[in-house]
This record gives sequence, structure tokens and C-alpha cells, in this order.
Amino acid sequence: MLRSVILAASRSAQVEKFVGSAPVSRDVVRRFVAGRTTEDALRVTRELADQGLGITLDHLGEDTLNADQANATREEYLSLLAALKAEGLTPAAEVSLKLSALGQAFDEDLAEANARTICAAAADAGTTVTLDMEDHTTTDSTLAILARLRKDYPSTGAVLQAYLRRTEQDCRELATAGSRVRLCKGAYKEPEHVAYQAPLEVDKSYVRCMNVLMAGQGHPMLATHDPRLVAIGQDRAHWFDRSPAEFEFQMLYGIRPEEQRRLVAEGFGVRVYVPYGEQWYGYLMRRLAERPANLMFFARALSSKK
Ligand SMILES: Cc1cc2nc3c(=O)[nH]c(=O)nc-3n(C[C@H](O)[C@H](O)[C@H](O)COP(=O)(O)OP(=O)(O)OC[C@H]3O[C@@H](n4cnc5c(N)ncnc54)[C@H](O)[C@@H]3O)c2cc1C
Repeated sequence: MLRSVILAASRSAQVEKFVGSAPVSRDVVRRFVAGRTTEDALRVTRELADQGLGITLDHLGEDTLNADQANATREEYLSLLAALKAEGLTPAAEVSLKLSALGQAFDEDLAEANARTICAAAADAGTTVTLDMEDHTTTDSTLAILARLRKDYPSTGAVLQAYLRRTEQDCRELATAGSRVRLCKGAYKEPEHVAYQAPLEVDKSYVRCMNVLMAGQGHPMLATHDPRLVAIGQDRAHWFDRSPAEFEFQMLYGIRPEEQRRLVAEGFGVRVYVPYGEQWYGYLMRRLAERPANLMFFARALSSKK
């Protein structure tokens, strides 16, 4: 119920205006978002790289409604990649893309062309791209675009969502040599016929998918903050004789940072997903919806005078 309310609020312009204008929301936003500008993204990237963490940067740009907006997102990624290259922050940092921000909803060819241009710039900068996965109506289109991009840029990564009933099969198809697959639980509200609803069912699916990826030929990227799944990931690495260089953990910026550092200290690869940009609002509200306890944290900061 609370999750539905927060997800509805994430689509409300009035609530966005209120949150954006509240004087102290900046501190709360900063916990999960690097900032509004490329310079903010670079600063956080440097800080994380200094701690031995990998980084994937996401320019926040949802609800792209026309070609101009899609092309502006592409240009943002191109200047980000040029700056990462100039500062020697690759290959520690890669980038994550939402095809919707590149025009997927109204022109799939445009989204693919924009993604291809970004993949070329990433290759030139000595790094790579991972395509985020959005709601289930986009899964087929995203995987089809991914397959075409991989012909020219084989290290382009995919995201698969364990809550979808189809995902174990998708894992089988993508667990091939050189294939980078980020496995997450899934962040969207999906109907029962396509997605497991019970948390335990999602967790069991995550473990089945992880088994397929860790047994396969690709590079699994285990994106979860769930302590049980992190422990099972370590266990599977042992079973399947994967060295820490042959898979990685991934977590979101601001969530369980101590665990991120602990895993690095134990010798595991950890990559932090760092969002930045003007359109931080929809992203932040989804983080709140995932874990309603964060709402209290957010509300306290909003009412504070500091
Ligand atoms: C690198 C990365 C990329 C992602 N990309 C996508 C994507 O492309 N598409 C997509 O649908 N989803 C994506 N997600 C989100 C993902 O699907 C989940 O919604 C999210 O990671 C929460 O699931 P969890 O596995 O952490 O487990 P949960 O069951 O949500 O959490 C397990 C534990 O982690 C801690 N925790 C979790 N969330 C929070 C929080 N917000 N604040 C504080 N502690 C928390 C708590 O201790 C909690 O008990 C991504 C996640 C990561 C880490």
C-alpha cells in the first residue's frame, strides 16, 4: 500500500515541486544521488575509485518524450565519457543507460542509434556500457537492441530482473563467453502473470538465476544489497571456482556503503551504481518505495531546520 502511494507520488509534478523546493532535501538527495552536474559525478567517481570500488554512472533522465530530449541525453553521456577518459577514471568507471532516456518509447531505432554512439565513445574511452532494464513491456525490445549492439561492442552489459518469470531462461541465453549480465531483483510494480509477487519467490528465482550465471561462461554482476544473496554469491563463486576477477557485486550509491567496503577489503570486486543529474526525483522516489523505512529518514530531513 505505502509502496503504491510512493510510486504514485513519484509521478506527481506537485509532489516533485514540493520536495525539490524544500530547503533541506539536498542532504537526503545527496545520500543516493551524486549531484546535478557532470562535475558532481566525477567527484564521487574519484572518491569511490580511491576506495578500490568500481563505478557505473547513470545520468538521470526519465520521461523522454521527443528526439531533442533523447539526443540531449546522448550528448550528456558523450561529454561524461570524454571527461572520464581525460581524468583517467576508466576503466574503473563505466556507464549505465536507460533506453527510455534515449527515445525507446517513441522511436526504437533512434534509441538504438543513440546507444550505439555511446557504446563507441565508451570503447574509445577504454570502458563499457550496461543497458538498464525497465518495466516488462520493454524487455524484448531492450534484449533485441542489446544483441545487435553486442555484435560491434561485445562487452555491452545487460540487466536481468529475477522477479520476472522469464528471467531464468534469459539467463541461460545470456550466460555465454564475454557476456556481462547484471542480475537484480527488479524495481517496478509488475503484474502477477509476468512476475513473482512474494519476496521469497523472488529470492528463490534470484538464486536459480545466479546459479545459471555463475555456472556459465559470462561475467556475472550480482546487484543486490541482500546479505543472504551476497553470502550465496560468495558460496557459488567457491563452488564454480570463479576468482574475484570473474564476477562482481554491485550496489547502489548510498546503500550499505560499509558492506561495499567490507567486500572490497575481502578481495571481491564491487561496483557502485551512481546516479546523477537534474532529474533525480523519480529515481529517489523509487528508492523510497523499495524500502518505506527510508521515508521516515526523508521526512525527518524535510522537517529539520538545518
Ligand atoms: C547496481 C544495481 C543496478 C540496478 N539496476 C536495476 C535495473 O536496471 N532495473 C531494475 O528494475 N532494478 C534495478 N536495480 C534495483 C533492484 O532491482 C532492486 O530493486 C534493489 O536493488 C533492491 O533489491 P535488493 O536485492 O537490494 O534486496 P532487498 O530485499 O530490497 O533488500 C535487502 C536488504 O538490503 C538493504 N537495503 C535494500 N534497499 C535499501 C535501501 N533503499 N536503503 C537501505 N537499505 C536497503 C536492507 O538491509 C535490506 O534488508 C538495480 C540495483 C542495483 C544494486
